Amino acid sequence: MKKLLLAAALMLAAATARAEDNVVKVNAPPESAVAGETAPAKASTIDCADTLGVSRVAEVDTAGGGEYGEQYPPKPLLEKGEVVLTFDDGPHPEFTRQILDALAAQCTKATFFHVGRMLKEFPDVARQVQAEGHTVGTHTHTHRNLGGASMGQAEQQIESAINIAEATLPNGVAPFFRFPYLSDPQRVRDYLAKRNIAVFGIDVDSFDWRWRKPEKVMHNVLSGLDKTGRGIILFHDIHGSTAKAIPALLA
Ligand SMILES: [Zn+2]
Repeated sequence: MKKLLLAAALMLAAATARAEDNVVKVNAPPESAVAGETAPAKASTIDCADTLGVSRVAEVDTAGGGEYGEQYPPKPLLEKGEVVLTFDDGPHPEFTRQILDALAAQCTKATFFHVGRMLKEFPDVARQVQAEGHTVGTHTHTHRNLGGASMGQAEQQIESAINIAEATLPNGVAPFFRFPYLSDPQRVRDYLAKRNIAVFGIDVDSFDWRWRKPEKVMHNVLSGLDKTGRGIILFHDIHGSTAKAIPALLA
């Protein structure tokens, strides 16, 4: 096992839906998350006034696993008004980079769940994601639906992606995992818990995989947030329409 994956805690960037300024404002931190300092400021050429920014950095203790998102039993992570931006299925040489630019322009951070074979094909993009201060977790090796996989196949899917990410990323990979199609058999959840890897479901779906219109993606997210008031938001950084939607949505 990789030592990093045994580390008690990793960082999860959390952004407020509407930060009043770039000062860190942390309420009493939830049990599972410890308030940290702000993420490092982006390039000094960017003026971060009036941008989305990062309200705080939640440190997630993954000892024994942990499951977050509406499909799991409630576990405190986010306060009202806080969101976590997540991007699955990359890295993609064109669209991931466009999204990185949009995040940088808003001085904010996201969490990326990379697919092993994409990492292998586009390692420089993954390194750029990490170098710009975002969190990188994994999303299986070939995006296989683990609902129909044997335990051996599931392990291979999970470990292969982690091994490639570890070999690719200078700072190693976060012990964060998202199931493809959110299809999460209990035995695989148990395996991840034993591996001290946290599972991230979602609270708000952008449905960017279904609708390839930026306006529709934006509408889906904003109407979802109207209902939840907080949450982990799912996007995919392999669609040009998502890359187009992100700047306006963050604004
Ligand atoms: Zn996916």
